Amino acid sequence: DTIGANLDRAVAAWPDREALVDVPTGRRWTYAAFAADVDRLAYALLASGVAKGDRVGIWAVNCPEWVLVQYATARIGAIMVNINPAYRTHEVEYVLNQAGISVLFASLRHKTSDYRAMVEEVRGRCPELRETVYIGDPSWAALTARGTAERSAELAARTAELSCDDPINIQYTSGTTGFPKGATLSHHNILNNGYFVGESIAYTDQDRVCIPVPFYHCFGMVMGNLAATSHGACMVIPAPSFEPKATLEAVQQERCTSLYGVPTMFIAELNLADFASYDLATLRTGIMAGSPCPVEVMKRVVAEMHMAEVSICYGMTETSPVSLQTRIEDDLEHRTGTVGRVLPHLEVKVVDPATGVTQPRGTAGELCTRGYSVMLGYWNEPEKTAEAVDPGRWMHTGDLAMMRDDGYVEIVGRIKDMIIRGGENIYPREIEEFLYAHPKIRDVQVVGVPHERYGEEVLACVIPHDPADPPTLEELRTFCEGRLAHYKVPSQLRILADFPMTVSGKVRKIELRETYSAP
Ligand code: ATP
Ligand code: MG
Repeated sequence: DTIGANLDRAVAAWPDREALVDVPTGRRWTYAAFAADVDRLAYALLASGVAKGDRVGIWAVNCPEWVLVQYATARIGAIMVNINPAYRTHEVEYVLNQAGISVLFASLRHKTSDYRAMVEEVRGRCPELRETVYIGDPSWAALTARGTAERSAELAARTAELSCDDPINIQYTSGTTGFPKGATLSHHNILNNGYFVGESIAYTDQDRVCIPVPFYHCFGMVMGNLAATSHGACMVIPAPSFEPKATLEAVQQERCTSLYGVPTMFIAELNLADFASYDLATLRTGIMAGSPCPVEVMKRVVAEMHMAEVSICYGMTETSPVSLQTRIEDDLEHRTGTVGRVLPHLEVKVVDPATGVTQPRGTAGELCTRGYSVMLGYWNEPEKTAEAVDPGRWMHTGDLAMMRDDGYVEIVGRIKDMIIRGGENIYPREIEEFLYAHPKIRDVQVVGVPHERYGEEVLACVIPHDPADPPTLEELRTFCEGRLAHYKVPSQLRILADFPMTVSGKVRKIELRETYSAP
């Protein structure tokens, strides 16, 4: 199916069910009203001369218009390009030109970001950009006013030209390990993935999904929007960008049944001073993804947020994104020790990174995935595509993993994050998980820093519970003594107030490494 056809099906099945709620502004759409607004926007884009395959950018924080643009571009076969709302002029200029964007939708402003001023600054250097529409501005009203039903025959003709294998979306990776790469994805890639993710957590038209993760990233857009709409569930937007308080308020007010987040978001929510005052009893499930979840956090999410059916997903932008997921009935051990089993219709294998030979179960190697979810390629970068996707269509993830006998997969860490100290391979995650249990540690990241004698040394970057009483290196070493092999024990410690983060909520280890590698 195309994404447009899938929306038609949702409207036919659940016309009066709520599709979308924007908590900050109180606006609400049923499926029927949502589809009508999508069509109006699709007509408007046709009137603006947007052809099949044209790139339409969206540079916006979470808001209902984001979702309308997502569906309207899919309806007319334009390729929507998700632009990171944290970008500044240099980066947005690069994306506008790299993707050849002709129409751009942008937020007006959010917090300290003045999107209009930034667009004005670069537009003279972006020859293909011919129209910019700001959300919540007269330019939005002017555009949508052009969208009249006279275009309905044109839309029907366009719909007939679409194929589910057409590129429909360019999504950028998080930029955790370097410069973000633009993954080109089809209707078939992302719609199926959203559908199967929703299946794994048994979504129905009774579910209400709180989405505090950015739509710009596949977590919000596919695992959020597409999983919800393909099951008649309701998308709830708690705030334009992540705020722990607004998230819990939205869950309470909208009686959400599902809540998303990367582990750091759940940690922020659980650490709110007034956490216990929120009524979260309607929650049953949710998704935690993007980076490993500490066991202690998972326990609290299940016990204190009532998310007994919370699911862990593993994926990457290049694979639409999810390939592995825990089932709602999985026990705590599988939910913290593994990222679940392969989704239906996908294949995974673990190979020796040097030889490409499949590893026996229980042996770590590079995780590779194959199936409907593998991207068409990186936009205009055939060499990078060839490095990532081999001729057999296997996506090489760059992650180290191990498959258990029961088919559950453990993520060991990123190949790029592995620390090699005096010839020993060290996986930061194992040390982080261990240190997380220290009473003075609120959050911890472990990275390798250069060392003359050992090649690399283990550095722990710690956010203490109490900034006035941080742990000392001696305390950490004593804590590890006799319980961790000596070469894994951190030899350096930095106390920090925050970690450098990507917009998708991941710690940029590369930045920690670069900052603290300096002599
Ligand atoms: P870049 O590719 O630009 O460096 P990125 O890989 O972080 O950034 P994404 O596509 O957003 O960009 O994230 C995919 C990566 O996130 C995976 O390759 C994996 O390393 C990590 N990841 C995703 N889910 C999990 C999970 N459940 N547990 C551990 N790691 C995960
Ligand atoms: Mg990546």
